[in-house]
Amino acid sequence: MNKYLEQLIELSKLDREIDDFGPRITKVEKMLKLSLDKEKELKTQSDVFSADISDAKLKKAKNEAHLAELSAKLKDLSKKSALVKTAKEIKALQLEEEISKEQCDFANEEIARLDKMIEIKGQNIAGVQEKLSLAASEAETIRASIDGQMQQIEQERKDVYGKKEALVSEMSQKILTFYQKIRKWAENTTVVPVRKQACYGCFMRVNDKTYASVLKQDDIITCPHCGRILYKETEVLEA
Ligand SMILES: [Zn+2]
Repeated sequence: MNKYLEQLIELSKLDREIDDFGPRITKVEKMLKLSLDKEKELKTQSDVFSADISDAKLKKAKNEAHLAELSAKLKDLSKKSALVKTAKEIKALQLEEEISKEQCDFANEEIARLDKMIEIKGQNIAGVQEKLSLAASEAETIRASIDGQMQQIEQERKDVYGKKEALVSEMSQKILTFYQKIRKWAENTTVVPVRKQACYGCFMRVNDKTYASVLKQDDIITCPHCGRILYKETEVLEA
């Protein structure tokens, strides 16, 4: 095979690998973000339950204050009842007493309901806390794995850059400029294989003469339609 063509195939492979590092890093970072988001969500849930408990306690205190008022009022009413004389007055007092007792019942029911709610929300918080500690240890594991993956990527990146540097230093400036000019628009499809006599950059069929030259591999051939550099598919892929 033409030495320049060989270099170009290798260079395009290295450039592709270099471009793949970005998405690989993004993917790893996304994993970490997902685990952190989960922790954050659980914390928010726990905060909501805590706020509900505070609210219920406040309502409970109001009901208790109301109960105290009602009990004072009932005492007052029973004192008054000893003093009233007419049937009308007695009836009015009885009515007032009944209403106050009803209000007492209602306040007591409300307090019982709030107590139950406080208890349930407390259990909810305990459940969330349990999940939270699980999520935290999971995040820790992920972080450790991510650190490993990042180190791996960093190492691979160094290797690929090293290889590219070595390759570029061996290449002719003219060929390099030619490659870079195409790469500006073709990006990672600057050097493409020919499959079934079609350019794998633009997918157009190449003429017989171009195809024959590509198969010979002793010159740098570009696609007559798009201008990408063409090469013969390796045996491994054809097999
Ligand atoms: Zn083409």
